Order: sequence, then structure tokens, then C-alpha cells
Amino acid sequence: MTTGLQKRSCCIVGGGPAGVMLGYMLARSGVRVTVLEKHRDFFRDFRGDTVHPSTLELLWELGLLEEFLQLQHQKVTSLHVRLGNSTFEIANLDHARTHCRFIAIMPQWDFLNFLSEQAKKYPTFDLRMEHEAVDLRRQGNRVRGVVARTPQGIEEIEADLVVASDGRHSAMRAAAEFEVEESGVPIDVLWFRISCREEDREPGLGNVNYGKILVLINRKDYYQAAYIIRKDSYERIKQRGLEAFRQDIAQVVPFLSDRIEELKSWEQVKLLSVQINRLKRWYRPGLLCIGDAAHAMSPVFGVGINLAIQDAVAAANVLAGPLLGGQDTDPLLRRVQQRRELRTRLTQRLQAIAHIGLKYVFEARGPLEVPWPVRLVLRSHVLLPILLRVVGIGKLPERVSETVLLNGSVVFKQRTRAITLGRVVGTGAGIAAAAVWLFFSRNRL
Ligand SMILES: Cc1cc2nc3c(=O)[nH]c(=O)nc-3n(C[C@H](O)[C@H](O)[C@H](O)COP(=O)(O)OP(=O)(O)OC[C@H]3O[C@@H](n4cnc5c(N)ncnc54)[C@H](O)[C@@H]3O)c2cc1C
Repeated sequence: MTTGLQKRSCCIVGGGPAGVMLGYMLARSGVRVTVLEKHRDFFRDFRGDTVHPSTLELLWELGLLEEFLQLQHQKVTSLHVRLGNSTFEIANLDHARTHCRFIAIMPQWDFLNFLSEQAKKYPTFDLRMEHEAVDLRRQGNRVRGVVARTPQGIEEIEADLVVASDGRHSAMRAAAEFEVEESGVPIDVLWFRISCREEDREPGLGNVNYGKILVLINRKDYYQAAYIIRKDSYERIKQRGLEAFRQDIAQVVPFLSDRIEELKSWEQVKLLSVQINRLKRWYRPGLLCIGDAAHAMSPVFGVGINLAIQDAVAAANVLAGPLLGGQDTDPLLRRVQQRRELRTRLTQRLQAIAHIGLKYVFEARGPLEVPWPVRLVLRSHVLLPILLRVVGIGKLPERVSETVLLNGSVVFKQRTRAITLGRVVGTGAGIAAAAVWLFFSRNRL
């Protein structure tokens, strides 16, 4: 059954962090916006659960922070890595120049439920669950809307602008035949849960030893564990059997030995096939891609959600006013890509550099000996400000424009950040440190 054609200013495909944030901000500005989400609810396990200071700052700007922090969450103020038998602090958020100097760890579905409930307070917001966009509506070369599969049948939604925020397997970007640039990635990730106990005093978030890497995110009752493996090696790991896998986990984090039996089947282990890619062009007339749909990120540094949200803010800043005023947004879509592309490229480059370090770890057979130059660098804390910016804040974070803050009633005005000497020197030092790191890691391999 096909239901009648419906008309909206903006139709967003995908109710992930990027889509729901953009929907909220457009609705707040008075734009008639529909968000389509193919699932019945936001409940999905093993998704990014980290809300970084940059996102918390945006929530503060939007006046949502206080209410948001009432939701159950854990605060992480510093990040540690355990290399062999030594623990190093690699990021400390105490020095972040934001209202919240911590990462809030919260299930992504709580974050999305919160944001969508806030959005529903605006009459122009329309969230449709169990609506899977299956194709684009076109008129000549221009995208005019989407075709969605719903439990009631096929629906057609006409929109002045379609935003594809449907994740890294985006059906919309495939339908639009966008060109994707893939970067080779040497890792995949196995996700599973394992219980966490009160007596666990380990601060280690990342644990590296015996050629293995296990990241543990403390979720109070359990750890969300990410076991980093060589690309496409999961089948081989499975062939070695579950017991060998359990022993690998216990070897890299010995205090888990007493609960490793909780892993009873491969069903409990989810494979994330890691990708780094980005679209050459994020837009075409009537259509814009943001978030993972425009650029899939590696989980290294855990910044995917935050980049997706920053894209949404940039898009809302550029487009809210013109959409509200009924202007043609096609000439503006380029500005969203221009604003976000460099930051995305920089983050992906840093992730690629980190991957080189991971390849070096995989080579090791015995217990990890941390070379003294690495030890010196980590102990001297020179990396702290760099990782603070990469992980906590991101390069040149977005800020919410006046149009969105004042519900569309003010002439569009983008706030800019002054380029100070300190920023120029800081950025230069960061690039130099990354180049030195790259040089040494290449020479070691
Ligand atoms: C296992 C895992 C762990 C991760 N850990 C972290 C982390 O710790 N920190 C971090 O910052 N990032 C992490 N990430 C990355 C992060 O989840 C993503 O970068 C981020 O969610 C991207 O947001 P998005 O809104 O662009 O896309 P997504 O979050 O992928 O959302 C896309 C949404 O679109 C919906 N959808 C898809 N197709 C359609 C369609 N055709 N019609 C309608 N709806 C559709 C999907 O159901 C989904 O809800 C992780 C990713 C994975 C897979």
C-alpha cells in the first residue's frame, strides 16, 4: 500500500547522533523537519557511548546540559593506558576550557531518547520510527525527497532538502551514487561484555601486552570490552576456539581471569569491521550527507559520535535560517563540507597514525617492553594537551549559531573563534609531534 505524498522543509534519514541533533536544532529554529529511523527504538548495543566535552559544551549552549546530566552516567576525567606492566596517563580533561571537564559515559540510546524528547517539545519536529528510507525521489538531477518503507506500506516524503545521516552503510549515499574514498585499515574490533566488580581498581582503559590490545570501558556493572584484532582475522580466532580466546583476554588483562568463563559462546562477541572512508563530495542538489554517512571513522580515540554531532551543528548553523526563510539551500551545501572536511581529514589522519602503532603492537610475541623514548614521552606528559584536543574537544569545535539559539528569530550570524598566537603555536607543535611519531613508528616497522 502506498500512502499520499507529504511535504516537509527538511527530511533527515537516520536517527543516530547526527540525525537527531540536526532534527532538534532545526525544529528549535522553527523549521518543519522529519527524521526517519528504520528501527522501532534507539536501543542498540555496542554503539559509541562516549559524550565528549565538546558535545557537553554544545548541550550547555542549547540550555540542555543540566537536565542531561541528571541522566545516569559515569564521568571520566582522565584516560590511562597500560603498556606491559606500566600505566600511563594519556589524556587529562582537567584542563579543558569547557563547562564539563569530563567525558560522560552513557548508553547511546539514553542520549538519543533524551535529545528526541527535547525535540518533540517543538511542534515542527516529527520523528518517525520504523521508517526505512529505501530510495530518493528525484526531479531531473535534483533530489526532491525520499521513499520510505513503513509497517503501513510505502510512504513518499517530499522535502526541500534531504539530509542523509544514515550511518556508514548509508543507503541514501548509495542511491545518490556518491564517490567514496576508502583508506586501508589494519584492524577490526571484537566487542563483548564482561562483568565489573567493585574491587576492580584498575584505571587502565587501554591494555596492551603480549601483542594484544584490550580496551575496557567501565559501565559500572560491566565492562564494555573492545578487543582489537588484525583486519579479517576473526575467522582464524574462532577456529582456535573459545577457550583460546578466553586465555588471550586473561593474558592481556590478568584480573579478568576469574570471570572469563562468562564468555560462553561466540554469540556474545560482535565483530566491528573497521573502516575509514569519506565522500569526495558530501552533497548534490537537494541532498547533503553528514556523520558516518559522509565519513566513517575508526573507533580509535572514540570520536565518531562527536564528529557526527559537530557535522549536525555545522549543518544547522548554515541551513536553519535559509530553510526557515524558504530559500534555495543548494548553493549553501558546499559550505557545510568546507567547514567540516578539514577537521574530518585531520582526525582520520591521526587515526591512521595510531593504526601504525597498533600494527607494531601486533608484531610483539612476548611481554611488552616499552622503549625508553616512548616511556619518556608518555611520562613527560607532552602528549596530554594534544590528546586532550583530539579526544575531548576536537579541532576547531562548532558552536551553536544565534539563529538556532534564538529559535530562528535573529538574522543568521556565525560565531567565529579568534586565531590567537597560542592556537597557531599549539597547532604547529601538535603537527610536529605527530610527524616525529610517524617517523619513528615507520622506522621501527
Ligand atoms: C561498535 C561501535 C563502537 C563505537 N564506539 C564509539 C565510541 O566509543 N565513541 C564514539 O564517539 N564513537 C564510537 N563509534 C562510532 C559512532 O557510533 C559513530 O561514529 C556515530 O554513531 C555516527 O553517528 P551517525 O549519526 O552519523 O550514524 P549512526 O550512529 O550510524 O546512525 C545512523 C542511524 O540511521 C539509521 N538508518 C540506517 N539506514 C537507514 C535508512 N535507510 N532509513 C532510516 N534510518 C536508517 C540507523 O538505524 C541508525 O540509527 C562506535 C561505532 C561502533 C559500530
